[in-house]
Amino acid sequence: MRTDTPQTVRLEDYRPSDHLIDRVELDVRLDPHDTRVTARLAIRPNPAGRPGAPLVLDGDDLRLLALDLDGQSLAPAAFRVAPSALTLPEPPQRPFTLTIETRLDPTANTKLMGLYRSNGVYCTQCEADGFRRITYFLDRPDVMSIYTTRIEAEEAAAPVLLGNGNPVEAGRIEGTGRHFAVWHDPHPKPAYLFALVGGRLDRVSSTFTTMDGRAVELAVYVEPGKGDRAAYALDAVERSMAWDERTFGRAYDLDVFNVVAVSDFNMGAMENKGLNIFNDKYVLASPDTATDADYAAIEAIIAHEYFHNWSGNRVTCRDWFQLCLKEGLTVFRDQEFSSDMRSRDVHRIGEVRTLRARQFPEDAGPLAHPVRPKRYAEINNFYTATVYEKGAEIVRMLRTLIGERAFRAGMDRYFAENDGTAATVEDFLRAFEAETGRDLSRFAEWYERPGTPRVAISGHYDAGAQTYSLALRQTRPGAGSDAPPVVIPIRLGLIGQDGPLDDARSPRVTDGVFVLDRWDDVLTIENVATAPVPSLFRGFSAPVRVDMAMDDTERLTLLRHDTDGFNRWEAAQRVAARLMIGALRGEATAAGSDAFAAALGSFLDARALADPAFAALVLSLPSESDLADDIGSEIDPDAIHAARYDLRARLGTALTDRLHALRDALAEPAGTPFSPDAASAGRRALRNAALDLIAAADPTGGAACADAQIHSAGNMTDRLAGLSTLALLPGETREAAFAAFAERYVDEPLVLDKWFAIQAMIPEDGTVERVRRLQEHPAFAMTNPNRVRALVGSFALANPTQFNRRDGAGFTLVADTVLALDRANPQIAARLMTAFGSWRRLEPVRRGMAESALRRILATPGLSRDVTDIAGRSLGESVTA
Ligand SMILES: [Zn+2]
Repeated sequence: MRTDTPQTVRLEDYRPSDHLIDRVELDVRLDPHDTRVTARLAIRPNPAGRPGAPLVLDGDDLRLLALDLDGQSLAPAAFRVAPSALTLPEPPQRPFTLTIETRLDPTANTKLMGLYRSNGVYCTQCEADGFRRITYFLDRPDVMSIYTTRIEAEEAAAPVLLGNGNPVEAGRIEGTGRHFAVWHDPHPKPAYLFALVGGRLDRVSSTFTTMDGRAVELAVYVEPGKGDRAAYALDAVERSMAWDERTFGRAYDLDVFNVVAVSDFNMGAMENKGLNIFNDKYVLASPDTATDADYAAIEAIIAHEYFHNWSGNRVTCRDWFQLCLKEGLTVFRDQEFSSDMRSRDVHRIGEVRTLRARQFPEDAGPLAHPVRPKRYAEINNFYTATVYEKGAEIVRMLRTLIGERAFRAGMDRYFAENDGTAATVEDFLRAFEAETGRDLSRFAEWYERPGTPRVAISGHYDAGAQTYSLALRQTRPGAGSDAPPVVIPIRLGLIGQDGPLDDARSPRVTDGVFVLDRWDDVLTIENVATAPVPSLFRGFSAPVRVDMAMDDTERLTLLRHDTDGFNRWEAAQRVAARLMIGALRGEATAAGSDAFAAALGSFLDARALADPAFAALVLSLPSESDLADDIGSEIDPDAIHAARYDLRARLGTALTDRLHALRDALAEPAGTPFSPDAASAGRRALRNAALDLIAAADPTGGAACADAQIHSAGNMTDRLAGLSTLALLPGETREAAFAAFAERYVDEPLVLDKWFAIQAMIPEDGTVERVRRLQEHPAFAMTNPNRVRALVGSFALANPTQFNRRDGAGFTLVADTVLALDRANPQIAARLMTAFGSWRRLEPVRRGMAESALRRILATPGLSRDVTDIAGRSLGESVTA
């Protein structure tokens, strides 16, 4: 339990470390309860630091066994030690070696930070500040060291011993049953990239030859017996390596690259140098246990962590305020990789859906913060959609502004100039300024303030002059009254009744991009022969909200004729959202929904079989949380749910013959081998999107259809889609299907997570009780982050009607879980708390219920720093010094 008062860390207070640690020699003797760590640290005063400053090494929950300086044990008066720090008030003013021995209990480490055991496997997680739970250290990213690690363990319990870098030595210690391995990493790195693994693991491997001729041994390690589920991850590693060479000229730099899957992990995965450690959810896949979405996520996360080898490891962050420097950039890189592996339009739509579902509400609520925060009380609470997803959008806008060629040259320069250093956002932008000669200081504003900019646009066509004018105005809600306008790249085109108007031109539009960098501007386009429909923010060229009065007929023209896939999809989404929000406000919508159904019908006839993945997205209406975000205040989740259900039923009724025909046309012949490729996944997605609408229109027929699909499915995607559809249709068929699924997958925790999640998302009054019951299920464990996220996380973040129940029962359930979890794993508890981030936008009764749940949490004695920080900020109270 943390008992320290939260301290705020501020960007403006940054100063270089007073000491540097050039080399680290670690000797780790693994034991379930009594692990001994000896660290030999080669320390010297930092010329950029304060002369004569004390040496203060960070610790967290550490027990010191021995300490010496240059081989001499230190007199008690020469140092001070506590679990959280080791201080030498007067360290030598010359290079010296400090040797520190600490003792750890990996089995008791339920926070899953530092060294811990997961299902009997020793593993580590050090980002952001876990290394200080292993030994006393200058645990900050701008202290970079060369590591040599000796790992020793009982051979029977841990036949596999892995570290960072390259293996240099291994052997048995005769007569003890123990063995050891020595690893050396020649690349200087901060402590957060340290890792080791010891355990009984199966291995699948291959080799990859880099573009500079280095043969790299690749391996994926998984729980014994699960080697056949690691093939897709291994293949994704190879494709990632080849892609980064081809696209960014980045080659791998060690002799081995290892990926290890563990079952207890706080995050998705971690990019430790040469030894990536993964949540097993993002490694293990087989047709019977993983959905198409799982395969896509594995590919993306394997790529993400691999790409960090350059954007994060070779060039790391100076301090944690620069987190977006590695995360935003690496998310952008993995998005580009996935787009190249799959359909670019389909992938872009997925990226924007994620951004709107997670980042827009964050940016509009009490947890809003700049992409580069200016202060934090607990850095683990800043691994957010804003830092990651909005951070990636900034990199994407930069590329749009300067063009692909200059972007690649700027990236090369950034890597070359900052290799082996800990960099800042300024260093990143400077590389592009040097390459292009442009001043990016105005563009840098995107990093500095929270809030999603809004752009209001009105269009005017002058038939006589054959011109079309767009009047644009930007505002910056949440950013403060002194915020300057931001630089917004708007990719655009004009569409006529029969197709794109390619002759329309303006000197202010370069390569299809207009740059809005003032509060107000007017763009006039010439040579416009007929009244056009503008296609704006093509490919979602900036992370903004757009207000433009446009009627459904104009939007449906875009759905039919726009050459930009994102905007075709967006047009259908906007029409659907307007219909549903109109229904909420009591405006008549029957004619509107009929016209929309007719347009969707023509769209399906023309394009569904040519691009099923895209068609599936067009058929998927904006989610309930998308609608809540559009409405913005006084939100009633039950009314939103009803409006969305009603439109799904109307569309399902109007399109029923087409939807059945599509399902038949897309059915795979029995015995077709499963393939996770994008085209096959797209066909499954459209069949299942059709099933969703069919069931909304005809619950009885839909239930039969879903149940039949569950029984006949040859893969998890179709089986789970059947179960998800059935989950919305109360009755015995559903409960029998849930029971049969649990029985079939009783030994598959990752599959049971899907079963937990589907039940937690049922939009019915009984769900709170169902979730409480499932918390007692033998397969559920509060100690496993995946289980908690699947059951309680899905309830809190993906079941708007039940989490926000009017009687407060949903808030109580989540608050109870947060408090039960906080002492064991505060990081996961704090993550669950973020579900409360939109509470102020609810209608008054629910708002009051949410506020009392938050106050109950905050008033609980002994609360962790993590949860205190989120609860306090959610309530708008400063709880930090
Ligand atoms: Zn990352």
